[in-house]
Amino acid sequence: MTSYRYIRYDTLDDGAIARITLNRPESRNAQNRGLLVELGEAFALAEADDAVRVVILRGAGTMFSSGHDLGTAESKAERAAGPGQHPTFAAYGGTRAGAENRMLQEWHFYFDNTLRWRNLRKITLAEAHGAVYAAGLMLMWACDLIVAAEDTRFTDVVGTRLGMCGVEYFGHPWEFGPRRAKELLLTGDYIDADEAHRIGMVSKVFPRDEMEERTLAFARRIARLPTVTALLIKESVNQSVENMGFYNALRSAFTLHQLNHAHWAEVNDDGYAAARPGEALQDWRLAPDLLESGRS
Ligand code: ZN
Repeated sequence: MTSYRYIRYDTLDDGAIARITLNRPESRNAQNRGLLVELGEAFALAEADDAVRVVILRGAGTMFSSGHDLGTAESKAERAAGPGQHPTFAAYGGTRAGAENRMLQEWHFYFDNTLRWRNLRKITLAEAHGAVYAAGLMLMWACDLIVAAEDTRFTDVVGTRLGMCGVEYFGHPWEFGPRRAKELLLTGDYIDADEAHRIGMVSKVFPRDEMEERTLAFARRIARLPTVTALLIKESVNQSVENMGFYNALRSAFTLHQLNHAHWAEVNDDGYAAARPGEALQDWRLAPDLLESGRS
């Protein structure tokens, strides 16, 4: 059994189902670099293991994921130069300057990672609960199927809290629909599990206390399918949306995202690459219950 610091990896049903659990409940499963690197290793492990048919991705604690880690002590320590620095900050563009640095780091650890997980040769199933914020959506959207607990709320608050045009993997129009995507990004409002089900983003909504068991039952139904059939169904759908422009649209949106970062880095005296909280912007540290539902 591989040991991880920020996630858990276990297998069930003689290895047919692999389950990855984001395991930073004290930080609301915020995605620091160490977590993202371990997540990549875990997906690669499941990918290589021919026994694995379905991969479940879930979060420990009160929510699925609060997004990228913008401020925990662990996140700051792994970025800071010195012996405690995560080695990936001295590679993958991390030694370059300016916008090139940020573009390459975000490409590797936010954009390309997410696309690679989307393209896993296994069926992937996100098990969402609590809240799914911003980059939490990216992880969830990378999966083939999403199930959610009744209490789940989905929102991207980077527009209203960081002055950004969405997260790096811009799945919003594809998942919410174009007009709903604009509304949610412009307001920071959330949609609940029932609404996410109605618009087709979520396949099943389960009571919170039955989540684990019913997600497993759902995964087991899919795991019974011949692996070639499952993979070709996945690819038929994925290649269809790619022919509709999915891949190029995401790449274009990534460059706009980099432009947005570059703007803030240019206007902020300290080079901070997002908007500072102020009159117009909510503080990203505010409690999630201040958000409004899209169905008021
Ligand atoms: Zn970014």
